Amino acid sequence: MATKTVAIFSLGGTIAMTTDPATGGVVPALSAHDLLAAVPALQGLDVELRVHDFRRLPGASLGFDDLRALADALAEAFRAGCDGAVVTQGTDTIEETAYLLDLLHPGDQPVVVTGAMRNPTLPGADGPANVFAAVVAAAAPELSGAGAVVVLGDEVHAARHVRKSHSTSPAAFTSPAAGPLGRLYEGRVHLHGPLAARTVFADPSTGAPARVGLYTATLGDDGTLLAAMADACDGLVLAAFGVGHVPESFVGVLDRAASRIPVVLAGRIGNGPVLERTYGFPGSERDLLARGLIRGGHLDPYKARLLLHVLLAQGRKPDEITAAFATAAH
Ligand code: ASP
Repeated sequence: MATKTVAIFSLGGTIAMTTDPATGGVVPALSAHDLLAAVPALQGLDVELRVHDFRRLPGASLGFDDLRALADALAEAFRAGCDGAVVTQGTDTIEETAYLLDLLHPGDQPVVVTGAMRNPTLPGADGPANVFAAVVAAAAPELSGAGAVVVLGDEVHAARHVRKSHSTSPAAFTSPAAGPLGRLYEGRVHLHGPLAARTVFADPSTGAPARVGLYTATLGDDGTLLAAMADACDGLVLAAFGVGHVPESFVGVLDRAASRIPVVLAGRIGNGPVLERTYGFPGSERDLLARGLIRGGHLDPYKARLLLHVLLAQGRKPDEITAAFATAAH
């Protein structure tokens, strides 16, 4: 009997794609068993695999329902005794799904999300190496308590920090602000330092409305489109310039929006914090925070949107949302 048990959930993505004769393009078609069959080296690991063919979708078409169902299935796998889990999926949305799973997973078992940049029909397809590394990581005692991590190219990234930073490179995944948590070599995980504390919001969804808009500040925008979006949202994340700045034309719109819905001030750079007490002009971070916007801190806009979505879906009150961001986005 194997020492460790790891659950595998396949969701589709390039890692699971083959050529569709009808179109000539690659589409998600391979099962979880197909993915594992391409990695004979797994048989040399002291790990039992419990395989779940969960979805066959491109990363772009995964939705909140899929991810909620996956979080429930992961919880069930851990209740049944799995020591860790691997999720294979499209790389387009890994930086978002991994963070969502991280927020929803209260246990110490690692949830390792992986994929591939080169599909299985290409020379040097990276899927098999990534699956192998992900299984090793999911069974690794070093990652106990790490929450969700992303493993690609033998690097381990915290869900909270990871970004897809190149559209085609096999080394596409980086953690711009923090660097990787560690690396895999010779079949083991080597961490660069201690794991950081993480914040979990694992309450069940109450079904509260949670359409969260994400709007990016850009040069010369007069705020008309922002106003239209804000009217259609239950919560809004603003991807502001620099340390949290927007055109002066946004100020009235954001002031009104923040009196009705939670509005989070995040930075569009995606590396470094939104500040709180430096600039004082209309549309500066001080001005916007004084008008009731919630500071997104170090969270990039995509991750801030997911945190706000989870909090709204759990029916959290405005002061709880502000407190949650203060804890999770430091
Ligand atoms: N478009 C693909 C997807 O996310 C990209 C990939 O998997 O690398 O499904």
